[in-house]
Amino acid sequence: MSYSNKENIDDTQILVDQEEVLEFVKQMKMMNKQFILQIKQLIREKEEYKFLIQELHCQLQRKSEQLQQQELIIQECELQLESCRSNYEEQVNRLEIELKLNQMVFQIELSQQKQEIVDLSDKLKSTQQGYSTTVATSFLQTSFNQKQDSLFKDSHTLESVGQTEGDQSIMSHKNKGQRMMLKIMQDPISNLKKQKELIKREITQWQDEFLKKEGRPPSFNDKQSISTKFYQYTILKKQLNDRSTFIQDSTDSKNVGVQCNLMDPQQTLQMQELLKQKTNEIKRLSFQLEDLKGKVKVYCRVRPSNSLDKLKDCEVQFIDEQHILLKQKMFNFDICFNQQSTQKDMYEEIQQSLQAIFHGYNLCIFAYGQTGSGKTYTMFGTKQQPGVIPNLIDEIYQYIKRSNLDCSIIVSSLEIYKENIIDLLNDQQSSQSLELKENANGQVFVQNLTNIKVQNMHELMNLIEFASSRRKQGLTEMNDSSSRSHMCTQLIVETFNKITQQKFISRVNLIDLAGSERCNKSRLKPNQLEEAKFINKSLSALNDVMIALSTKSSFIPYRNSKLTYLMRDSLGGNSKTIMIINISPSFINLDESLSSLQYGQKVKQITNQPIKNVEPVDQLKKLQKVCSQHDESAQLRQQK
Ligand code: ADP
Ligand code: MG
Repeated sequence: MSYSNKENIDDTQILVDQEEVLEFVKQMKMMNKQFILQIKQLIREKEEYKFLIQELHCQLQRKSEQLQQQELIIQECELQLESCRSNYEEQVNRLEIELKLNQMVFQIELSQQKQEIVDLSDKLKSTQQGYSTTVATSFLQTSFNQKQDSLFKDSHTLESVGQTEGDQSIMSHKNKGQRMMLKIMQDPISNLKKQKELIKREITQWQDEFLKKEGRPPSFNDKQSISTKFYQYTILKKQLNDRSTFIQDSTDSKNVGVQCNLMDPQQTLQMQELLKQKTNEIKRLSFQLEDLKGKVKVYCRVRPSNSLDKLKDCEVQFIDEQHILLKQKMFNFDICFNQQSTQKDMYEEIQQSLQAIFHGYNLCIFAYGQTGSGKTYTMFGTKQQPGVIPNLIDEIYQYIKRSNLDCSIIVSSLEIYKENIIDLLNDQQSSQSLELKENANGQVFVQNLTNIKVQNMHELMNLIEFASSRRKQGLTEMNDSSSRSHMCTQLIVETFNKITQQKFISRVNLIDLAGSERCNKSRLKPNQLEEAKFINKSLSALNDVMIALSTKSSFIPYRNSKLTYLMRDSLGGNSKTIMIINISPSFINLDESLSSLQYGQKVKQITNQPIKNVEPVDQLKKLQKVCSQHDESAQLRQQK
């Protein structure tokens, strides 16, 4: 369509054009309307964005504030941590000083006790002498009376004889008496000397008085007075002789050790009891001292003979509580238990370590010796004669009850058989391997081993019985005795001290080793031969560790066997350790017994460094509290 030629435009055309224009305008209007709506929408959106930006700005500010606060809290925590650390260092230093002081105090007490013993034995000597003097005096009194009687008789006889004869007799007696007196005067015993001088003075006085009174010296008529005086000389001489004999006798008696007969039996008993008490006290103190020094304690126990000991007994001699003699070789242990010793005697010497368990010290008790020497009897015992383990557990629970302690006990039990660890508390075949690992504190533990938290003593005893029955069962299937594996039962005792808010953790290892005998290869079945090979390997690894430790070598070969690696903390480590050497009295086992005693002697030279395992519960709690407070406030802020 064209509008250039106006003359050619007809009406219809115009109409059509108008309609188009109108339509166009209408469309334009609509578009305009839409544009306006869009602009309005955009303005609204712009407002919203503005608001959103503002909101984000606020949030950003809040976040940065929070960040600042968190930084402050972290700083606070760091400060607290630092103070905790220095507190610990202080505590450790204090404990070290305390330990040294304790050692010194014990040394002093020990020397005081020794002095007391010396004093006591001096007292014993003087009492004995005093007593022998009393006995001598009463004896002299009797003989004095007897002599007096006989002298009176003599003097009457003298009276009836003629005067001259009597006179001569008196004079000769008098001269004799004077000679004796001279002799007596030379005697070194001073109180007797005094008596003699007194009597001599009395005689002179009497003679003088007689002369003054009568105007003449004493004559035969006065014989009775003279004979009384003479009688006194004789008695004195007798007294002197008797007394010196008694003194000599009592000294001799003392020397041959029969002084008790001379002493009042009651007094002797009292003295002996006192001496025993003092000796025990000294023993206890020296034990504590050894304990403080971290010495491994070694006890030796010889079991009674039984029907299986076919041949005669070898001659084990108990020299005293600490010394044992076998084949002319002397061995020194902390305590030696003879054949008559009971399970109770044995346990009494273990009991001293009970307290350590509740103060975070690790404890290890292990029995060593050849098969049949009484290791299992000593460690487990029987129902009627319970051994170290049941007695210890019983006392642990008694102690917890008595001291109202907050304690938890976790138990695990394993055996090492042919260098494999077997979990004795898990009777299902587990696919997970049991490996020895070290935890963050460097302590050795068995990964994947069943650990059971026990609720009471009954449960714990049942679990231990179950474990030892599994050990036996497993091995009976293999047609062998129970001593072909090492069994280790571990108790983890966690004690919470409500007053100091500290938690002590103690590991108690109770180990019944496999028999230590060298095996006669010709008598063993193939399986037994293999077992023996593993046992000998692990025990010789144990021997190597002991030698390295006792010679203070810089390298200790703990990793040469699973047994030594497992026992690492107990030998030369941070544990209090007691080794029990079990010995058979039979002559056929003489060589084995000698080698066990030599082992024990080596272990006695090992010094551990027991340390307390304390968890800083109070400090941790404070930190936890600060952290949780911080979390709460952060949440509240976010909600706002
Ligand atoms: P091990 O574990 O060293 O192989 P056991 O503990 O099994 O030896 O002891 C062997 C035998 O000797 C057992 O019958 C045990 O009851 C007995 N026995 C061991 N020591 C004593 C002891 N002190 N008193 C009584 N019997 C004992
Ligand atoms: Mg055994």
